[in-house]
Amino acid sequence: MDIIDFHTHLIPAKELNPHMTEFFKGTNPEFITMAKNYEDPRVTAELFKSQGIKYAVVLAEEAPATTYNVPSERVLEYCRGQDIFIPFASVNPNSYPEPATRLTEYVVEHGARGLKLLPSYQFYYLNEVRLYSLYARAQELKIPVMIHIGSSMFRGTRLRYCDPIQLDDIAVDFPDLTIVMSHSGRGFWYDECFFLSRFHKNIYMELSGLPPQNLMNYFPELDKNGDKVLFGSDWPAIPCDIKDNVERIKSLPLSDKTIEGILYKNAERILFG
Ligand SMILES: [Zn+2]
Repeated sequence: MDIIDFHTHLIPAKELNPHMTEFFKGTNPEFITMAKNYEDPRVTAELFKSQGIKYAVVLAEEAPATTYNVPSERVLEYCRGQDIFIPFASVNPNSYPEPATRLTEYVVEHGARGLKLLPSYQFYYLNEVRLYSLYARAQELKIPVMIHIGSSMFRGTRLRYCDPIQLDDIAVDFPDLTIVMSHSGRGFWYDECFFLSRFHKNIYMELSGLPPQNLMNYFPELDKNGDKVLFGSDWPAIPCDIKDNVERIKSLPLSDKTIEGILYKNAERILFG
């Protein structure tokens, strides 16, 4: 079965500050020594292919206050020429007076295929009116908006900014915008995220950072939402191979249709129409 990994990161070695290094020592210590090598997209593409990945979304992250700064330009350049990679831009609305113009540039001129927002790392509420031009533009450009919704290991994170109830406003006001919740409410919002993605046709759950063996505890009725859930690994922030996570998802008590949806079909629909 082909796999689409909806959540991976490019983290250049120079972004491994002491805090990040400490984090990776606990999750994926090999990455600390390999980070330089993975800056070559061919090396990462080979790794992903060897894990059965057909396409991988690669996320930019402009969040120097909490995690690191990997600008969209860097990710777009990295993905160019590698069909396996699907670049998502990062536009921090606090950094630009006209974030929608910025987004258009990334999409129209440089081939970004989605937008990632990290409200708890970048500090704004998702339903602030000043973000509406960004959502309107994403809807117009027909690209998904992926939003970090859940807890984090990183110092300085402010959880109140990613309370999922805010997505209700966006889903109502932008009915044709595809909204993806990264981490699906990790911590104490699992029920809210599950409900929102069932309630709104344009809200999806994405599973990165959640141990597959715990998914049925977090979402006992996952099978009923099989067409609204996406697999994401969060590589390199993952304590095992991506394919181990895929195998664990395949072994869950879910229908074949749901598993196929999670691992490929739902992402295919969002990314390729
Ligand atoms: Zn991530």
